[in-house]
Amino acid sequence: MFLKGKTAIVTGSTSGIGLEYAKLFAAEGASVVINGFGDAAAIETERAKLEAASGAKALYDAADMTKPEEIAAMVARCHAELGGPDIIVNNAGIQHVAKIEDFPADKFEAIIKINLNSAWYMMQAAIPLMKAKKWGRIISTASAHSLVASPNKSAYVMAKHGLAGLTKTIALETATYGITVNCISPGYVWTPLVEAQIPDTMKARGMTKEQVMNDVLLEAQPTKEFVTVDQVAALALFLCREEAKSITGANLSVDGGWTAA
Ligand code: NAD
Repeated sequence: MFLKGKTAIVTGSTSGIGLEYAKLFAAEGASVVINGFGDAAAIETERAKLEAASGAKALYDAADMTKPEEIAAMVARCHAELGGPDIIVNNAGIQHVAKIEDFPADKFEAIIKINLNSAWYMMQAAIPLMKAKKWGRIISTASAHSLVASPNKSAYVMAKHGLAGLTKTIALETATYGITVNCISPGYVWTPLVEAQIPDTMKARGMTKEQVMNDVLLEAQPTKEFVTVDQVAALALFLCREEAKSITGANLSVDGGWTAA
């Protein structure tokens, strides 16, 4: 239980990769703040399970990552009720797949706000609290799309490349304060976010579901296997260990070899 006494906020943790980060942190004794949208009863079930696993508090905060004032209020609430945050994970994200000329402006704005700007506001709110403790771990879920592009994902690729640049900049700003700042860049992970883009891709390319999975998604991934949420979260957990204190400003790929090609 190496995270006993520490507090983590994970944005976008009501499902997928984010929920798995929260589970692994709680299993190591951390207090956690989970965040994101979804069915209230299902969220409460997950919150209670996290508390049972950690033996520490777990809170749910509904802050909308498009709203800077709600992000700041979530960090302040965490500090007031649980202490910390010692660990923040910028994970909330959405996707939309369309050619730039067909891309709705409201979807573009939402992707930039949720996938990129929210990480900046999270860091702005949390870093003074981490500097005061001379310890902190900042992890962002970027993507293979922080390193390479795919067609029809202009907003997402732009946001994820931005997140990689933000990671490097803030790593330099915090390097002497015991704070590390890194991003994890998964390839395709089987989560609701990936499942949801299959119908649009089927329509855009005139393909069956099987064809989209094998010829579009896994086409880029040399292992021909989806990455799993536990493989991604295990790396985040390692970044919280003392042995990882010299890993900062890094963009760590978990992509089955995708970006090696
Ligand atoms: P997911 O859809 O399962 O989870 C996304 C989470 O973000 C949910 O909890 C959702 O409620 C939350 N969210 C969405 N809009 C929000 C908002 N405005 N405010 C607060 N929370 C909001 O998706 P996932 O696949 O687990 O994705 C998590 C992260 O991993 C994203 O940043 C995504 O870009 C990244 N990622 C995913 C994959 C993949 O293949 N699944 C690959 C690389 C990177």
